[in-house]
Amino acid sequence: MIEGPALGFDRQHERWARDARRGKLGRGRYRALVEQLVTVTHMAFEAGAIGSLWGLEGPMRAGIREDLCRQAWGWSAADLMARDLLANAFRVLEGRFEAERPEWNEGQPEWVVHEGLLIERTRCINCHCQLPEGHHKYCSRLCAGATQQRHYRRLVAGEGLAIKLAIDSI
Ligand SMILES: [Zn+2]
Repeated sequence: MIEGPALGFDRQHERWARDARRGKLGRGRYRALVEQLVTVTHMAFEAGAIGSLWGLEGPMRAGIREDLCRQAWGWSAADLMARDLLANAFRVLEGRFEAERPEWNEGQPEWVVHEGLLIERTRCINCHCQLPEGHHKYCSRLCAGATQQRHYRRLVAGEGLAIKLAIDSI
């Protein structure tokens, strides 16, 4: 089958857009950041701080985005860059650990509870209030987010691996 010109054109444009984003960060810094993300995740996983390689994905994406936004990036551009960096970091990690990203279902707390691997909790990990019906770890998204952010910050600070995105002023 011959690839349609429209598809090739879109792909080319996507590649240019991606290169432009990376260019904005600087090639050296881009690579260094991917390396840092790999190191932090690898260490957290080995230390048992996260149950899967993807355990810090959310907080890391939010953290990178936040740093970039502080440096005058627009939200969308910052989020795209965060995703791009993490996608590369996970490609390295998946190869290193011969791991495969779990299905969405497998990432939900109910999955583990139903498999009988955990004794069911009754109180929120973060605020210790009674868990509402259908909640297995946290009473709310707020508590889940707060706990993950705290784990992430402690980990990064403890290892002296602050992920900083000092970009040459544009
Ligand atoms: Zn709570």
